[in-house]
Amino acid sequence: MVEREKVNVIIVGGGTAGWMTAAAIAKLLPSRATVHLVESEAIGIVGVGEATLPHIRAFNERLDINEAEFMARTRATFKLGIEFQGWGQEDDSYIHPFGTFGRGTGEVDFHQYWLRMKQEGRPVADLEHFSFACMAARLNRFDRPSTDPRQLNSTFGYAYQFDATLFAPYLRALAESLGARRTEGRVVDVERDGESGDIRSIRMESGEVIEGDLFVDCSGFVSLLLGKALGEPFQDWSHWLPCDRAAPVPCRTQTALTPYTGVIAMPAGWRWRIPLQHRTGNGYVYSSAFLSDDAAAEAIVAAVEGEVIAQPRLLRFKAGRRERSWVHNCVGVGLASGFLEPLESTSIYLIQQAITFLLELFPDKKVSPVDRDEFNRLIDLEYDRIRDFLILHYHANQRVGQPFWDYVRNMKVPDTLQEKIELFRRRGRVVKYREGVFLDASWIAVYLGQHVIPEGHDMRADAPPAEALVRAMEALQAEIRATAERMPDHLGHISRYCPMAA
Ligand SMILES: Cc1cc2nc3c(=O)[nH]c(=O)nc-3n(C[C@H](O)[C@H](O)[C@H](O)COP(=O)(O)OP(=O)(O)OC[C@H]3O[C@@H](n4cnc5c(N)ncnc54)[C@H](O)[C@@H]3O)c2cc1C
Repeated sequence: MVEREKVNVIIVGGGTAGWMTAAAIAKLLPSRATVHLVESEAIGIVGVGEATLPHIRAFNERLDINEAEFMARTRATFKLGIEFQGWGQEDDSYIHPFGTFGRGTGEVDFHQYWLRMKQEGRPVADLEHFSFACMAARLNRFDRPSTDPRQLNSTFGYAYQFDATLFAPYLRALAESLGARRTEGRVVDVERDGESGDIRSIRMESGEVIEGDLFVDCSGFVSLLLGKALGEPFQDWSHWLPCDRAAPVPCRTQTALTPYTGVIAMPAGWRWRIPLQHRTGNGYVYSSAFLSDDAAAEAIVAAVEGEVIAQPRLLRFKAGRRERSWVHNCVGVGLASGFLEPLESTSIYLIQQAITFLLELFPDKKVSPVDRDEFNRLIDLEYDRIRDFLILHYHANQRVGQPFWDYVRNMKVPDTLQEKIELFRRRGRVVKYREGVFLDASWIAVYLGQHVIPEGHDMRADAPPAEALVRAMEALQAEIRATAERMPDHLGHISRYCPMAA
């Protein structure tokens, strides 16, 4: 049997992206790769990024991470979706649930029956009354989903809200136990091969030179390898997503421990509210073209619902991504490859996807352009689809007379999004994806939550007699509520299952 030489993987950066990558490669490619991570404590990590999508559970499972232990160590809470306040009209509130509307089965999507009822002028409750995840979230209940697909409480997924400053250290311990090496210090230079242009080595401030076959750039916004050393251009999307600053502020928790993330529209952007076991994370994401930094800091301190425990920080960013995430023998993962604001908690998901594609297309010592191109195609799709979904939230607003909101409502959106909106407006149809993160229920929640109302519906929804449909909808609504009410309280569940260490 031919013994293949291991690929020496050098990871630059020890934030969430760096340690997720290190742990995954060390765990899943032990016979194919060695992992060496370089990070600088003096530079530090971004340290925000507290809300996630349900996909993270699959990542943790692949790494054999024990859920209760992981949640206790990162002081995590459960998350059933995101509540959007004030995004359509100022007093609106809707939930983007991690789950289906209706039972998620049947010939026609549930929202089509709901649209029919509305269009026929029949009394029907708001759509969220027909989502188990929404109902449990509104009642502050949580339990893990049933594995029996006949049960209503199998129709949802869940994610976590955790302390981002604790996640990377947690993964570091795991990666090091699996054999990953770590070097502390600042990278000051990158040496490239004169012929191929590949990265040959990095030089540390100490003078040490570290050579490798594959370099993973997890250096954050600075994009040390992909952006700086290789000069990969940045595709700027700030004309569609004009928020370019954030002011995070933690506070003591004085409200209920909600099993969902709050996303509240503000005059020049929005703020997040993420309840953790020990505190609540908040932050104002805003556009500096519409609001000064001082005014943003004042506004977020005034808005939080609890005693502030640290002063606002200022973070600057730009929406967009590198033209290509994998160039030569360097793969950008995390903020080094691009950034989309955390409106739908997608950054850690994008890190996870980049790692998954990298594992699937993992190179030999010499990178194949075919693998590299496929990686770039897959990750570009993810970025582009999330971008469109985020723009939809801004574009479909009715906050007339507020300069920031007037701008985003009137801006020209990407054609790919315009087509989706038009299709939905006609008969409530959602563009189906084979690849990409947000499925039908996510788009439906945002469209209807922000008053993008279809003119018609799928004709198959006309099949049941009206009276029978009314009765079935009422029965479903009652069953969803009764089942959700039987679930344990979110805080009580956490106290029993995964309380943080004192
Ligand atoms: C305001 C805000 C809110 C966010 N909220 C969410 C959220 O709710 N959910 C979500 O999924 N994501 C969120 N994110 C994104 C999330 O924070 C990041 O995707 C995640 O933290 C990954 O960051 P990173 O590891 O790529 O970079 P960083 O955390 O910046 O890490 C970079 C690493 O590179 C190292 N480094 C840099 N330069 C050098 C050098 N010269 N030499 C050696 N080492 C170097 C640093 O020391 C550090 O270890 C948010 C981001 C922002 C800005």
